[in-house]
Amino acid sequence: MVGFATDVGLVRDRNEDAYFAASGCYAVADGMGGHKAGEVASEIAIEVVALEYGERGLVDFDIASCIDKANRRVIQASRNLDELEGMGTTLTVVTLCNGVLRVGHVGDSRAYLLRADSFVQLTDDHSVVGELLRSGLLSPEEAECHPQRHAITRALGFSENLDIDTGEHQLMPGDAVLLCTDGLHDTVADDEIAQMVSMSNDPGEACTELVRLARARGGHDNITVVLVRTEESDIPSSSLSASEAIEGSQASDSGGPRP
Ligand code: MG
Repeated sequence: MVGFATDVGLVRDRNEDAYFAASGCYAVADGMGGHKAGEVASEIAIEVVALEYGERGLVDFDIASCIDKANRRVIQASRNLDELEGMGTTLTVVTLCNGVLRVGHVGDSRAYLLRADSFVQLTDDHSVVGELLRSGLLSPEEAECHPQRHAITRALGFSENLDIDTGEHQLMPGDAVLLCTDGLHDTVADDEIAQMVSMSNDPGEACTELVRLARARGGHDNITVVLVRTEESDIPSSSLSASEAIEGSQASDSGGPRP
């Protein structure tokens, strides 16, 4: 079961967020750049995800290579047209296939995993504040009002040598995976998101409610959220018995906490 919602918010003129949701493959992108450039950048990124999904299908979908392609396409487009110069976008992509959740990520959008009572952020924020928090130079309280809290340190569109975080996690029946842009996680706290997700049986309704909450808090940015809830039938029983092996051999450079 999947739900999604995107909203321009209350302050911005246009929605520069974009998202993708197909069976087993989900993504969010948050564009940046003057004029219409941000909108174009996030659209290109999501277009590449859709194309790759269409061409390769879910089983052979390679998230890192997809993000790399999207990056090159954004760079190419910004070189071809003056008004698109300097555009960029975040991109967070997940696939859920045969009981395994794969994550690829660049920027300050987020992927979370909700399992029973735990709600874990699977991605690092590639932002000035995110880096300072991880290095212990900033407290979470200081981060909330830091002047550079919207400055991001990694995005698609700027360098062909893009550093892409990837991770892999074993899924359990009942797990929920949530993707969102900073318009949500900047205004709605993790525990509030977790509560909303666990309270609702309808992912679409939960997404609508989360957007409503972000708007009620000022809606200063575009808000996008995609929520996937796994069911028993999504997780092959053979993959559950192999879960320890996968947990033990996780190859991830995201460095974030794991469930
Ligand atoms: Mg944003």
